[in-house]
Amino acid sequence: MRLIVTGGAGFIGSAVVRLLLGERRAELLVIDALTYAGNLASLKPVANAPGFRFVQRSICEAAALDPLFAEFQPDAVLHLAAETHVDRSIEQAAPFIATNIVGTHALLEAARRYWETLPAPRRAAFRFHQVSTDEVYGALGDEGRFTEATPYRPNSPYAASKAAADHLARAWQHTYGLPVLISNCSNNYGPYQFPEKLIPRSIIAALAGRPVELYGSGENVRDWLYVEDHADALWLVLTRGRPGETYNIGGAGERSNRTVVEALCDAIDALAPASTPRRSLIRLVADRPGHDWRYAIDAGKLAAELGWQPQRNLEGGLAATVRWYLDNRPWWEAVMSGAYRGERLGLGAGPG
Ligand code: NAD
Repeated sequence: MRLIVTGGAGFIGSAVVRLLLGERRAELLVIDALTYAGNLASLKPVANAPGFRFVQRSICEAAALDPLFAEFQPDAVLHLAAETHVDRSIEQAAPFIATNIVGTHALLEAARRYWETLPAPRRAAFRFHQVSTDEVYGALGDEGRFTEATPYRPNSPYAASKAAADHLARAWQHTYGLPVLISNCSNNYGPYQFPEKLIPRSIIAALAGRPVELYGSGENVRDWLYVEDHADALWLVLTRGRPGETYNIGGAGERSNRTVVEALCDAIDALAPASTPRRSLIRLVADRPGHDWRYAIDAGKLAAELGWQPQRNLEGGLAATVRWYLDNRPWWEAVMSGAYRGERLGLGAGPG
């Protein structure tokens, strides 16, 4: 398979690229703008793999996309490029509108124009996979789980921009017949995650002996999935999913943020003992405006139709993640010496 991966230098995209090139499952053209969140160091393990090409481009540059499709002749597109941090979307939504909505539109159009030139068998086999989030479904109370039939009710600017992109992708299937797949996944964690997100931010703060901050009561619940399990699921949906369908992806890893952060502190204590337990660094701070209470995914359709099960449970995944951040200081120290220095974002606007 010849596959275009957008956002392949990001957290999840780079896990997909390392998986597919490491196992030589596909030839890849990675299109990535290398924003603050994109990092070529995350692709170092496969930088010299045969069948790997990288081009630094924004998906918003519509005119640049046609030649890339024409030249590379892909069989499929796995679309991960996005602005992804909720707190940043609260500070400034414009880049989320630009990349997640306008950029997805440009990519869909480029894919459609190219797809229409293909001979019938290649047209039928072509896939456009829109990678999305469970946050499009809004927030849950203490009960229930999101299914593929849950109505969209996005709450944050980030979630709304992803919901818009999903609707565009779905419409391109319905209107033009472009074979589109959509997957909606719960919160990911694991190696190479940008340190502004809860798990790496907490690990790095705890290692430095700085306060480990929990928003609000610390009791908000997320359904965590190890990033390599997500990468496996994406490949399965891309290669075996039915066009026009949505697949929810989740790890049955529901925990409160407090539970996750306490587990991280304990894992760090075990691997890098300190005089005081890291749990003593945990502090409650002002809540995120409009903070969704709980997310939980029902991934039953993916299990029943495609036989997918996550390979790692949360405890094993958290321990592996802590070990990775301990062993890969140069990666995150380089990231932290750039534009992002660990500061709190997303409090400058909104009601809270
Ligand atoms: P990330 O922020 O780590 O990486 C995003 C990548 O997209 C970066 O490499 C960045 O350079 C690139 N990018 C941004 N704007 C671009 C543009 N205009 N053109 C080309 N490239 C651009 O994100 P992630 O956590 O790896 O998420 C990847 C995808 O998965 C996103 O679509 C996100 O909505 C979705 N998702 C993420 C999670 C999660 O927990 N992280 C969960 C479910 C779904």
